[in-house]
Amino acid sequence: MSLTEYQRKRRFDVTPEPSGAKESARKAGKALAYLIQKHRATQLHYDFRLEWNGVLLSWAVPKGPSLDPSVKRLATPVEDHPLDYGNFEGVIPEGEYGGGTVMLWDQGTWEPELEDVSAALEKGDLKFTLHGKKLKGSWVLVRTRGFGKNPTRPSWLLIKHRDDFASTEDVTESEPYSVVSRRLLADIARDGGGDVAKASTGDPSVKKRRSKV
Ligand code: MN
Repeated sequence: MSLTEYQRKRRFDVTPEPSGAKESARKAGKALAYLIQKHRATQLHYDFRLEWNGVLLSWAVPKGPSLDPSVKRLATPVEDHPLDYGNFEGVIPEGEYGGGTVMLWDQGTWEPELEDVSAALEKGDLKFTLHGKKLKGSWVLVRTRGFGKNPTRPSWLLIKHRDDFASTEDVTESEPYSVVSRRLLADIARDGGGDVAKASTGDPSVKKRRSKV
């Protein structure tokens, strides 16, 4: 677990993202942070992050989470992020790494469902419970063989377990707002001087939202 790759990719005099320079010491007994950032970069994706060993383990989920246990969502591992990244919502300047709009889509805590998290990560089978505002209950991240252009690069799948929180509701469509500011991506881009037109392509369309009523 290291922030070297995170820091190498970013220019902290240009981007408003946290540098991770301060070691964030974890208080014993404090619950582990969980969060998802909806990120309209080159491609829309949802950054799924779990606090572990002083950093945020991170996976990019292109389609976002599904509450339906029969749906497996591709989750590509990305570099560890600093803990204070979990408070970031705003605009990364175009041309910078990850340039675009970031929304805090869900936030809460997580608990491993097994004793040895390091062994589970190594094995590629991490079962856990989420206590978020939007996502709750039991989930698994499971490593699988790579897909498409990178058949040798391992991918992971994010899958909901069957429990009271499983549903066929499309949570990415029904819950499009920031959990901290109730804004859409377009609002965050507008407030942060970002590309509003680009950001709005990550928000549910008016037509789609209307058809749900
Ligand atoms: Mn991202």
